[in-house]
Amino acid sequence: MKIYRYKHNTKISTGVLKEDKLYAVQGSVYRKFKTAKKGIPVGDVALLPPVMPSKIVAIGLNYKDHAMERGKPLPEEPLIFLKPSSAVVGPKGIIVYPSMTKRVDFEGELAVIIKKKASRLHPDDLTDDYILGYTCFNDVTARDLQTKDVQFTRAKSFDTFAAIGPCIATDIDPARLRVKTFLNGKLRQSGNTRNLIFSVPFLVRFVSNIMTLNPGDVITTGTPAGIGPMVPGDKVDVQIEGIGTLSNTVMKIWD
Ligand code: MG
Repeated sequence: MKIYRYKHNTKISTGVLKEDKLYAVQGSVYRKFKTAKKGIPVGDVALLPPVMPSKIVAIGLNYKDHAMERGKPLPEEPLIFLKPSSAVVGPKGIIVYPSMTKRVDFEGELAVIIKKKASRLHPDDLTDDYILGYTCFNDVTARDLQTKDVQFTRAKSFDTFAAIGPCIATDIDPARLRVKTFLNGKLRQSGNTRNLIFSVPFLVRFVSNIMTLNPGDVITTGTPAGIGPMVPGDKVDVQIEGIGTLSNTVMKIWD
């Protein structure tokens, strides 16, 4: 099942895609729900970020090849940081190039959407019931500021630096998904989640022992090798098998 959030005329809805139509959810996607009998052609709606999370927990250096390209040792436990909900931008949205930085990188990642409150899970707890599904994520990063500040908040938190979408795919196995990033149509990152250092279930349990995860919260699982800079005018696509493609363009709107 693929779940989308979208605007049709002035109404914001969540819906399930069947063939090329969206069927509005009646109730909550976080519980049992029904869908409307009549669908709307997906071409008639404006897609929105599939969730509006209370927080985004991001994992750093979770692929060996990316840790090597950054010249960093492999982490012994997950390296985590937060991105604010104010940074969220949806499919086809604009990534705004801030005037404060001289290098803005793409980081294509698999993101996990939390389904139900998760707190202090045990090592042997199964995590499937806590996960609604998966989506594509671009962990946009002002690389020069990350290096300068040492800690990550400024570099990772500009408005529009958390591109997410296009949908939440349920019923897919997060342990073996190809993750690709294209810049202006050219393949720049090609990874597979089977190479994650810390698996999705491990990350959900780990984070739940630090902070309570709420429905709609996002854990983004880290980026494979091949990161690189974007400039205003670029188009960036994060594509994950079983989910789809998250497309955004980069623009400078201030001097
Ligand atoms: Mg990242």
